[in-house]
Amino acid sequence: MSDRADRLAARLPEIGADLLLVTSLVNVRYLTGYTGSNGLVLIGPDTRAFVTDFRYVEQSAAEVDAAFDRTIAVRELIDTVAELLGDRSLTLAFEDAHMSVRTHEHLRDLLPERVTLVSGGDQVEALRVVKEPDEIQAIAEAAKLADAALRHVMEQGLVGRTEIEVATALERQMTDLGAQGPSFDSIVAAGPAGALPHAHPRDVTIGEGELVVIDWGAELDGYCSDCTRTLATGELDESALETYDLVHRAQVAGLEALHDGVSGRDADESARAVIDAAGHAEHFGHGLGHGVGLEIHEAPRLSKRSDSVLASGNVVTVEPGVYLPGRFGVRIEDLVVVTTSGCSILTSVPKELITVG
Ligand code: ZN
Ligand code: ZN
Repeated sequence: MSDRADRLAARLPEIGADLLLVTSLVNVRYLTGYTGSNGLVLIGPDTRAFVTDFRYVEQSAAEVDAAFDRTIAVRELIDTVAELLGDRSLTLAFEDAHMSVRTHEHLRDLLPERVTLVSGGDQVEALRVVKEPDEIQAIAEAAKLADAALRHVMEQGLVGRTEIEVATALERQMTDLGAQGPSFDSIVAAGPAGALPHAHPRDVTIGEGELVVIDWGAELDGYCSDCTRTLATGELDESALETYDLVHRAQVAGLEALHDGVSGRDADESARAVIDAAGHAEHFGHGLGHGVGLEIHEAPRLSKRSDSVLASGNVVTVEPGVYLPGRFGVRIEDLVVVTTSGCSILTSVPKELITVG
């Protein structure tokens, strides 16, 4: 883990900074292993400083990588930063995506004139985007656990249960199998509700002959999984079957486009072209996918507006959908690891239309 801090320190000359103040807790965890709810890190060529408060004395002693010097703050954590800097003249970068304007003003007030504050951008995120083998292993385990939970819920059937009951059973099953919890609020959306990409489970009974969109994931050892399957609860009409087949083909086209070096925009376009050609361009309103790791949505993005270029070791979703307002929706989502020659799929639930009574 100390290697991550070394690689981060090596990036600092590029942004003209001597030190980087890391205040995002996810980034602090990534760098140090600390999982508490209050902590910050200061990193430079010769600086590995971790700061928390008295509540986390023992936890931080157990979790924080030995390369870091630990300080227990007596006031606000940020107040300790000025003390750690000593009397040097230097440029201190901060995480502008994570620090509030108020904290920034407070920090500026605390620091002497000789310290220049600069925006640091997404330095830790740039490291996190390429997963290490252990991280890929953790995400794969989370995906496996989530798949097992869905299989269990499918065995119990869908017809006659409410969306909330199914979502609750799925989340309960993931916890029973060892997950810390769901990696996001599960979506179980039957019939017309499936046309809402971010539907909340309702107290509505699932009927026969419907499409049911289920989007769920597990959190295991801090890492997230993310998957969607659209299931049938009996015989479907021709247009539902055609739409399912269309999304399935688009999803496969998206997977086939992935490899080290492809842009997030081109990957998105590969799947989108299939849906556009079928006349459903307006019914696929979101991007093709997103990175997954310590957070459920992280870099890189696969979308029309993405400026990401995919690299080996990225873990991303491929999740096209077609949403027909008032009727139904279909989304199929796999979690994959980008490789030099393509991608390897972490999701194991089949994608052929499954009928569950
Ligand atoms: Zn999802
Ligand atoms: Zn997703």
